[in-house]
Amino acid sequence: MVDEERRGFLTSLSSAIKGEKRESDPVIRPPYNSDPNLFHRLCPDCETKSCAKVCEEEIIAIAEDGTPKLLFHEKGCTFCEACLKGCEPGVLSDIAIDYIHAKVEIDVLKCMAWHQTICSSCKDPCLEDAIAFLGLFRPEIAAEKCTGCGWCIPVCPADAITIASTRKGIE
Ligand code: SF4
Ligand code: SF4
Ligand code: SF4
Repeated sequence: MVDEERRGFLTSLSSAIKGEKRESDPVIRPPYNSDPNLFHRLCPDCETKSCAKVCEEEIIAIAEDGTPKLLFHEKGCTFCEACLKGCEPGVLSDIAIDYIHAKVEIDVLKCMAWHQTICSSCKDPCLEDAIAFLGLFRPEIAAEKCTGCGWCIPVCPADAITIASTRKGIE
């Protein structure tokens, strides 16, 4: 199964299992931005909101304040650059940045594998091979490999994977 098919199969399974159950979503911005202040400065007046319209994965939502945020309810980011190319005001502009400013972690209190139940759902959609298991259990995310793409989040049956902005306080 090719990578995209594998991800599609896994995420449709997880959606069917978990339904719409969600905790409040953190503010995680789209990739390709080098100045987080631009989101508040330019996005509220952006009439097209084209970043949200062109994202094929449909993971960009426009928050009440008119700024974009990523939602990892069913899918993750493929770094396709569609949002970057669609953003005329230039909030998304730095093509050198192909990662998301976020820290992704496994909550060991919720993770089934950390409690001796065999599960490796998070590992399969991770194309960066950033999730390593110690033996059959105890998965950990290698921060230096993780791009913050978020594909591991919706497939976790225990909602054990968290994502938080590493720019908190400035965006
Ligand atoms: S297209 Fe650009 S300016 Fe418009 S909402 Fe999206 S990121 Fe902001
Ligand atoms: S890079 Fe592509 S998949 Fe990622 S948020 Fe932008 S449009 Fe969506
Ligand atoms: S561990 Fe990081 S790179 Fe791997 S799927 Fe999760 S967010 Fe993406």
